[in-house]
Amino acid sequence: MVYPGGVTALAGVSLDVAAGELVAIVGPSGSGKSTLLHVIGTLDRPTSGSVHIAGQDVATLGDRRLSALRAGEIGFVFQQFHLSDALSAAANVATGLLYAGVPRRRRRALALEALARVGLAHRAGHRPPQLSGGERQRVAIARALVNRPSLVLADEPTGALDSATGAAVLALLRRLNEEGTTIALITHDRDIAASMPRRVEIRDGRLVRDDAPAGTR
Ligand code: ADP
Repeated sequence: MVYPGGVTALAGVSLDVAAGELVAIVGPSGSGKSTLLHVIGTLDRPTSGSVHIAGQDVATLGDRRLSALRAGEIGFVFQQFHLSDALSAAANVATGLLYAGVPRRRRRALALEALARVGLAHRAGHRPPQLSGGERQRVAIARALVNRPSLVLADEPTGALDSATGAAVLALLRRLNEEGTTIALITHDRDIAASMPRRVEIRDGRLVRDDAPAGTR
């Protein structure tokens, strides 16, 4: 992956993630982790190489089918939550359905259901400034989940949280994984990385390590 301006952010990376996996992506700042997550999530198109999601080469999809795939199969979670302060928690979560072709009247019910899954049904009417950091991240996770994606991509989901709150957010992601969602998350936290079933390490745009328990792949 070469950015305009000439930075080669990823080179020669080959990564195969099976359905149901929970993978940590680790490596120093600037090593290419976010770029990798964006390429996997079809937010960035690689300058060379290919990305297959659910067996499909995404380069063969036109813009409409690509956004349908993204809206239907992939949920994103970011370090800084990216919630709108002007909207209630439920309305923020419902924005996750905007591109999924869900009729307006169904969106609120699905948003409330997703908030219940992250334990925040009682905060549906609160706006982000009225919520704690951990609650905001759970709202963002509910938004990522509202369309029942098969894959959740999380870029330092605990990076802006204190360790106890981060642990709760991580426990939530683990539970989602146990329920069948494939999850790839970037983390700088050694303890979190060490607790993951698989760790992929990126350095200078290259995949330098891929640790998985023996016999699982
Ligand atoms: P990480 O997530 O590991 O911190 P990134 O994937 O964000 O690393 O960045 C990898 C490299 O690509 C860095 O050198 C960064 O400066 C560069 N980079 C990231 N995004 C862009 C962009 N949009 N345009 C140009 N260069 C970028």
